[in-house]
Amino acid sequence: MQVSEEKQKSMDLAEESRETEWKYPSFIAELFKGNFRWDLIHPYQEQDPEDKKIGDALILKAKEVMLKFIDPDKIDRDYVYPPEAVLEMAKAGFYGMKISKEYGGLGLSQTNYSRIVGFIGTYCQSTATWLSAHQSIGVPQPLKVVGTDAQKKKYLPRLAAGAVSAFALTEPGVGSDPAAMKTTATPSADGSYYLLNGEKLWITNGPDAEILIVMVQTPPKEVKGKMRPQISAFVVDRKDPETAKGFEVAFRCRFMGLHGISNGLLRFKDMKVPAENLVGKTGDGLKIALMTLNTGRLTVPAIAGSASKQAMYYCHDWVNTRIQWGVPIGKHQAVANMTARVAAETFAMEAINWLACGLADKGGIDIRLEAAMAKYFCTESAWRVGDDFMQIRSGRGFESVSSLKDRGDVPMVCERTMRDARVARILEGTTQIMELIIAREALDTHFSLIMPIVDPRANVKKLSKITLLMNAFKFYAVWYPKQWLPTGAPSNARNLNSKNIAHLAYCAKTCRKMARRLFHTMGRYQQKLERKTLILARYVEIGTDIFAMTTSLARADAMLAKDPNNKSVQDVVDLFCNIARKRIENNFRLLSCNHDDLTDKVGKAFMEGELDWMSTDIYRDLPADKA
Ligand SMILES: Cc1cc2nc3c(=O)[nH]c(=O)nc-3n(C[C@H](O)[C@H](O)[C@H](O)COP(=O)(O)OP(=O)(O)OC[C@H]3O[C@@H](n4cnc5c(N)ncnc54)[C@H](O)[C@@H]3O)c2cc1C
Repeated sequence: MQVSEEKQKSMDLAEESRETEWKYPSFIAELFKGNFRWDLIHPYQEQDPEDKKIGDALILKAKEVMLKFIDPDKIDRDYVYPPEAVLEMAKAGFYGMKISKEYGGLGLSQTNYSRIVGFIGTYCQSTATWLSAHQSIGVPQPLKVVGTDAQKKKYLPRLAAGAVSAFALTEPGVGSDPAAMKTTATPSADGSYYLLNGEKLWITNGPDAEILIVMVQTPPKEVKGKMRPQISAFVVDRKDPETAKGFEVAFRCRFMGLHGISNGLLRFKDMKVPAENLVGKTGDGLKIALMTLNTGRLTVPAIAGSASKQAMYYCHDWVNTRIQWGVPIGKHQAVANMTARVAAETFAMEAINWLACGLADKGGIDIRLEAAMAKYFCTESAWRVGDDFMQIRSGRGFESVSSLKDRGDVPMVCERTMRDARVARILEGTTQIMELIIAREALDTHFSLIMPIVDPRANVKKLSKITLLMNAFKFYAVWYPKQWLPTGAPSNARNLNSKNIAHLAYCAKTCRKMARRLFHTMGRYQQKLERKTLILARYVEIGTDIFAMTTSLARADAMLAKDPNNKSVQDVVDLFCNIARKRIENNFRLLSCNHDDLTDKVGKAFMEGELDWMSTDIYRDLPADKA
């Protein structure tokens, strides 16, 4: 099967926008190469007590402001977010959490930032989203990474004081595939400004934002004889009267959840943006967007983890007080199965979240894959937790908080959290796109060694091919036999108890097994592998579960060191490791024993309308049916 020209363009652009360098080590990058670097995770990075105090005080402050100005049920019912809440949160500094003190922000650590946004999310996810869209992905983050001093001086103090910001990448025709972007920025003849034309869809904070970062197509450039699309990033300042003239909020969107967010379709018509508002270089826009998401992605899993902790808090009360068949429901094994699973998954989410935040604060470790996996694991896991929680709460889980309140029942929020949280598996990279991103990095070593040899598009001369072959041979002659060597728990893990050592030894052994199976898979499918996304997703799931197990074991070790008799920590980590091991084994089995061909066949029949006979006796309202 030929890859279409359009798809090839998208893949080329995604490839060019990847950060190819690994300046610092990464546990996950090493994991996929068969190197189990326990030393990068252990001892588990715990928050510095002084830093924790700062976070604790701000959590109290956030609670005070929220209780005074925010009623999450009213927001959910009315789809209206109180403007005074934005103002008061800004006054208290919450719009400057990630901005350094030098520019008027609070200069918080990533750990405190995630803790606070996670806490706020357990009260009102819309509020957490306002803050997160503003500073996890909005203007402060890209400026921090690639902004010039002048840009930082000009915008960061305003942003810290509460000038709301947004990140605008998506368009009506462009979701996961930014290469097809239609919004353009045309330079003026004298190069002093650009005219932006196009539309951006679903931009969180967009309708109310004062300063936005917008990704657009600048004129294509010739690179190695080929015209290459150039995605570039601009700061759009709506306080600039010339810019404001071309900016229109064309529509305010409403969603299944997050009824208090400001989100809309933005239209730019000959919108004049000064050339100095270009962020980074022309053509770097997608790279900047991806770099923004590297740490920006840590907020969504923090909110997901906090929602799961809240589910545990409510569940504990409910399974003890709800009596059915003469006993508290928690005593029915089927319910205990759900509560135990909720606890195990929540423990792992917490382990991953605080490890990733701790590593981001420590520096000297590349966390782009850790953040991507945190997002991937926590959003999927939190959805499973939410579903278990709703099942345990049953009728009351499905009932809205206001209805529970109005009829005098205990208002444990469940259905609203599920509605609010569902989008976490979609935004900042859908689960399927996260699988592609992680899989691409997982295969990096093999891609760079093998692809230039086997891919005809690589256009490598015969002589260079021989050199490449020699290099690959030299690498694999050492690397491949090593993946078969027996291995146990790392030697510096001997202080762990016997159960945890056994789990850790499994992780180390499975890391090598995964690396060699990945190599076999690569050899088997070669270029076709990029289309075998189900196979790739299984490797990503295996890698993610090994990562989740390892971080959970490191976290448990830190907790047990402080409190050796804490039986519940041991049991919960043991349970998570058992659950993860089952998933890993199942995924290995599915690598060779699956029905992917049949899935492809039915998927194709579905697309071609051969299954339309099933969709009878339904109300049909698609435009094609109405015509
Ligand atoms: C509430 C909300 C807030 C948002 N906030 C912002 C924001 O602030 N800024 C912004 O720029 N965007 C924002 N978005 C957009 C969001 O990032 C996109 O919805 C997301 O990137 C997915 O794009 P899409 O919905 O167009 O889905 P599509 O890209 O059309 O994908 C549809 C389906 O196809 C799958 N798919 C697509 N390509 C592939 C592939 N190559 N392989 C496998 N599967 C594939 C996807 O996983 C998905 O299941 C927001 C969206 C929502 C709903």
